[in-house]
Parts: sequence; C-alpha cells; structure tokens
Amino acid sequence: MFKRTLLVLPVVALLSSTLLTGCDDSKTTATKTVEQPTQKILRIGTNPTFAPFEFQGTNHELVGFDLDLIHALGKQMGYKIEVSNLGFDALIPAISSGNIDAAISGMSITEVRKKAINFSNPYYTSGLSILVHSDNNDIKSLKDLEGKKIAVQIGTTGAEKASTVKDATVVSFNNSNEPFMELNNKGVDAAISDHPVIAYYLVQGGSGKIVGERMNAEDYGIALKKGNDKLTKEFNDALNALKQNGEYDKIYKKWFGS
Ligand code: GLN
Repeated sequence: MFKRTLLVLPVVALLSSTLLTGCDDSKTTATKTVEQPTQKILRIGTNPTFAPFEFQGTNHELVGFDLDLIHALGKQMGYKIEVSNLGFDALIPAISSGNIDAAISGMSITEVRKKAINFSNPYYTSGLSILVHSDNNDIKSLKDLEGKKIAVQIGTTGAEKASTVKDATVVSFNNSNEPFMELNNKGVDAAISDHPVIAYYLVQGGSGKIVGERMNAEDYGIALKKGNDKLTKEFNDALNALKQNGEYDKIYKKWFGS
C-alpha cells in the first residue's frame, strides 16, 4: 500500500501505466492519495458596498467583479478562498495585523498605501468622478465644488480628492453607497466616488448625473501584507494566467459588457 502510494504520487506518467497494469484497487488508492492534502486557505477581506465590484446579492451573498476574480485566482493558485466583510478603512489594518491574508475591494494603488502594504499588479483601471443632482447646473468641475458640501466614503481616494477642495465641507461615510443616498436626500451638493461605481449606480436607476472629466487614472490592485512578496508573486502569476487563458475577459464581460 505504502509502496504503491509512493509510486503513483510523484510522476503522472507512471500513474497511467500503474492504472493500466494494476489491479482495480490501485485506482482507488491513487484517487485517495491525490485528494488527501487539505486545501490551503486564503483569508480575503472586502467591503461589499461597492457595486459592481463587491456587493451583497439578494440572499446577502457576496457578488461582483472582484469576487469572481478572487475566486478564479484562488482556483488558479490552488487555494480555497474565504471572504470576510470589513469596513474599507479596516482592510489595511487587518492585512498588517495578519487577520486576513489579502484584500480585494476596488482598492486603488497609491504611493501612500504602497508604504504600508504590497499590491499585486493592476487588475482594473479606474478613476474618480463627481455626481450631482440631476437639476444642478452650477457644478461642472471640481473647482465648482469650492465652499460646497461633498459626500465621500471614509479612507478612499475620493475622500482624499474632496479634502483638496478649498472651503468645502467633506461629509464622510463608512460605506460606499451612503454618499449617494446623502446626495439623493439633498444633504450634500455632490458625491465623489469611483467612476465605474457611479456609472453602475446610475444604470441601476440611481438618481443624479456625472459632471466634469473623469479625475485621476487609478489602478486597482489586490492588497497584501508588506513584504509578503511570495504571495504577491503568486497573485501576479495567477493574474497573468487568467489574462492569457481568457478567464479574466470572461469575468470582465460578465460585469462590464464587451
Ligand atoms: N478606489 C477607491 C480607493 O481605493 C475606493 C475604493 C472603495 O471604496 N472600495 O480608495
């Protein structure tokens, strides 16, 4: 038994010849041997208020482009993926403390964040936009937000952008959909968030309109612990593989069309 295990494990070519020549139970032994090791687990954090990248489906299940991507990456890398729901501003601390192995949450790769964490190669190119009420004809650019009230999500690049506007009052929220609700309630003059997220909100029937140019070219990356270069490389290799084998395109088309 032990001998046979040794025989079938290391060389795939040997496996088939063993099966051909061996008796029936060699097949059972081979299957068991391959399945026995428990699968490695990757603990992933996300803030699922950022449709279409991560949000909750009708049964509160986590869905979105990032979720499909992380599951495909996990499969490619040979890991089981376990996703937990965290605040966006809690993701980097959770990575640093080792509570999670990585985060995928529409997180833009920035120089400031790169000081605290590792990023995978970019997997999506994004940028920021301004959302205003449909009947607002005064605000047409970032400059027009001077002295105005702007809603943002805490800890985001949108919040960072809003903080650069002279005399503006920045109202911060924990979740990504709350700035839109606040705008809808006329509690603020504008919201700043990621362009694809605002665009998706409008397509889904949300109210308001985008004004001005898309600001900042921002790339999303998977965030990992600073110095965890081994796992970062595993992610990069898997991302390349998914881009080459068409899996990435399939996921992209599912959420963004062609
Ligand atoms: N891309 C933005 C950032 O990284 C917003 C991310 C988010 O709200 N999930 O700050």
